[in-house]
Amino acid sequence: METNSNICGRIFGAALLISVATALASTAFGYGNEGHQTVGAVADKLIANSPNTVAHVRALIGNETLEHASTWADDCKYHFNPHDPDMVAFVSANPHVQHDSGPHDHHAYHYTDIPIQETHYRADSVGAKPIDVVHMVRNCIAIIEGHSNATNNPTGITQKTALRLLVHYVGDIHQPLHVGAAYFGPNAQLVNPNTTTGAQADVGGNVITFHATKLHTYWDTPAVQNAMAAAHVHTPGAFARTIIRNPPPGWETSSFISGWAVKWANEVLPIAAEAHNKLTFQVNPNGWSAQTSNLAAYDQWAAAQVRTEIARAGYRLAAILKKIWP
Ligand SMILES: [Zn+2]
Repeated sequence: METNSNICGRIFGAALLISVATALASTAFGYGNEGHQTVGAVADKLIANSPNTVAHVRALIGNETLEHASTWADDCKYHFNPHDPDMVAFVSANPHVQHDSGPHDHHAYHYTDIPIQETHYRADSVGAKPIDVVHMVRNCIAIIEGHSNATNNPTGITQKTALRLLVHYVGDIHQPLHVGAAYFGPNAQLVNPNTTTGAQADVGGNVITFHATKLHTYWDTPAVQNAMAAAHVHTPGAFARTIIRNPPPGWETSSFISGWAVKWANEVLPIAAEAHNKLTFQVNPNGWSAQTSNLAAYDQWAAAQVRTEIARAGYRLAAILKKIWP
């Protein structure tokens, strides 16, 4: 589990800026460390019987496991290490700007904010960006494959960094609130900004108070911990072992790996919608608050979703690496 005191950059809409500033004491991680590490640990185990895959992974990141590599992208945000030349190079070329608004802002690489009413990811939707997580999963795959060019890699991300980023972003794209976002009308009603003017963004659930935290944070960390508790495990490695003993249904993805990120976003969007539709919302001084009449049922449902999505992410990460280096 991880806590963080940085002010989140993920906020847009001038009207919201002041009112939500204090709401952002904790911020977006994608899955907390345990979720990302579990994704990496599952993939570590699944590639272990593919010597060519392992050899190429080792050639890029040495003895670093995928489990360990899984949190490097968040370290770039929250635990910047000036003695890590790869981190210095990546953050310098992809600098964070307030509101995640830079053209190559690495904070914006972790998510997209597709309205939950949409059934499919669309690059022209409100909330989508050319540098969002859907694009970045695809770009990292291309870079690792050696197909880097000015369009998919304008900032010169290395193959080593692209692998570390991919491990993380494959986890993020399986966190429902990293793909689907809520937008509100004036009475806290859920609206689709693609069809409604004046909608206000929930910033991926970072300005929705829920369960003594933010709705986004709930899905990053407590929901993962609930899933681990339900599996009677305490570490990502142990969680990965239980997942491999009982693989997730429907993890296989058809066709070319360059199209997988869009398919995964489409798959997780309905979960993001349900994550909001199970709640009721009210305006509060910091944005909005969410309630459920049955928190235990919500906890149980969310933990089950998280377990399946983390498991799929681990299997899919391994599948990408095995496809690149069969
Ligand atoms: Zn992330």
